[in-house]
Amino acid sequence: MAHIVVLGAGTGGMAGAYEIREALSKKEHQVTLINEREEFQFVPSNPWVGVGWRDEKETTIPIKKYVNRKGIDFIAARVDEIKAADNKLLLNTGDTVDYDYLVIATGPDLAFDQIPGAGPEGFTQSVCTLSHAKTCYEDFKALIEEPGPVIVGAFQGSSCFGPAYEYTFIVEKALRDKKIRDKVPMTYVTSEPYIGHLGLGGVGDSKGMLESDLRNHSIKWICNACVSKVEDGTMYVDEFNGNKELIKQHELPFKHSMLIPPFRGVPAVANVEGLCNPKGFVIVDDFQRSPAFNNIYAAGVCIAIPPVEDTPVPTGTPKTGYMIESMMTAITENLVHVLKGEQPTKKGSWNAICLADMGDTGAAFVAIPQIPPRNVTWFKKGKWVHYAKIAFEKYFMRKMKKGTSEPIYEKYTLKALGIERLKDD
Ligand SMILES: Cc1cc2nc3c(=O)[nH]c(=O)nc-3n(C[C@H](O)[C@H](O)[C@H](O)COP(=O)(O)OP(=O)(O)OC[C@H]3O[C@@H](n4cnc5c(N)ncnc54)[C@H](O)[C@@H]3O)c2cc1C
Repeated sequence: MAHIVVLGAGTGGMAGAYEIREALSKKEHQVTLINEREEFQFVPSNPWVGVGWRDEKETTIPIKKYVNRKGIDFIAARVDEIKAADNKLLLNTGDTVDYDYLVIATGPDLAFDQIPGAGPEGFTQSVCTLSHAKTCYEDFKALIEEPGPVIVGAFQGSSCFGPAYEYTFIVEKALRDKKIRDKVPMTYVTSEPYIGHLGLGGVGDSKGMLESDLRNHSIKWICNACVSKVEDGTMYVDEFNGNKELIKQHELPFKHSMLIPPFRGVPAVANVEGLCNPKGFVIVDDFQRSPAFNNIYAAGVCIAIPPVEDTPVPTGTPKTGYMIESMMTAITENLVHVLKGEQPTKKGSWNAICLADMGDTGAAFVAIPQIPPRNVTWFKKGKWVHYAKIAFEKYFMRKMKKGTSEPIYEKYTLKALGIERLKDD
């Protein structure tokens, strides 16, 4: 019998645990899911939480109740150390857990500390976690009481631009709803070399379309932006040109600000010698397996992938739901093989297929493969994306309660986009 431990019950880990459980015999193998909190949080809803369009009840579900029904054990504890050489996890409760195979899906650690004054402990807000998004909403309510300038965007080193655009347009719509948009100058500040780069070198005409949208909504922007520090109500931004030369220094006042931080690996993972790159992301081979520890697999934001291209201000490549799901499917198939004494064969597909909400409209894009040049590049806008994203949230939460092992992103997103089936090969 083998004990498979999935570490992290987020977008990748929760769905992945269901998939792995269904693929392996319950009589022969045990599957345990470990997460630092009791609840699963649907991260893509956080930009809505940030303006009060969703609350905690709508975007979380208790993990234990649902996964136990499917024969998955659950431990609500933080893993503080991975003793990879001994196949052992040390928990913050003082307990230890032994594993035969470990699947790491711990997502990002948020590196706000790299920018003085950034983040909820400084002067900017975040929608990266539910608790951050709730604090963001409190700050947004203060903005409504006393309107002033808003800055949204992504700090240098960020790899997650979709939610920055989403929050920009969501805030814009929320301010229009409150009839105070005319009192709120808005600026989008980003490390991207151009609007619509998205950490992907652009997708189709994402540049033209998003620039046009920012213009149509009276939102200014600064690209190649490196924030040197944030003080209470003031952001200091260095703007660079394509040759990495400083061309302008901005001192921007703000009343409310939300910028996505750079990500790195969580400490318990980053500290395992030989497992990670210098940023603490898990190095994996084509089969999502660690070359250093062949009983450790990893999927999601916690894995190392190279940036699409060198940019004047550092940016990273996003890891989005569809590709995370495909990484978990690959891990599941590979575990089935290795438990039979065979070699892993299945590769995750590194394609990006996303639905981004823009308040009352939305943008959908497909990038296959994620890194250009591509076989498919597709970027479309419309109200239908806004509704499709709302429906996807409900669909995903329903599936997490039901304990489905089917690929949710593939099934739903492709259906919403009207693309029946996209094959990787
Ligand atoms: C605000 C936001 C919106 C996004 N929206 C979209 C979207 O609309 N579409 C899309 O495709 N992608 C989106 N993404 C990108 C990506 O899909 C998400 O970040 C996704 O949640 C990543 O999944 P994950 O499983 O890698 O990590 P997470 O979902 O972050 O899950 C990691 C889990 O591991 C737990 N954990 C971490 N360390 C430990 C430890 N030491 N011990 C125990 N538990 C631990 C965490 O608490 C968490 O529950 C978004 C990202 C953000 C930040």
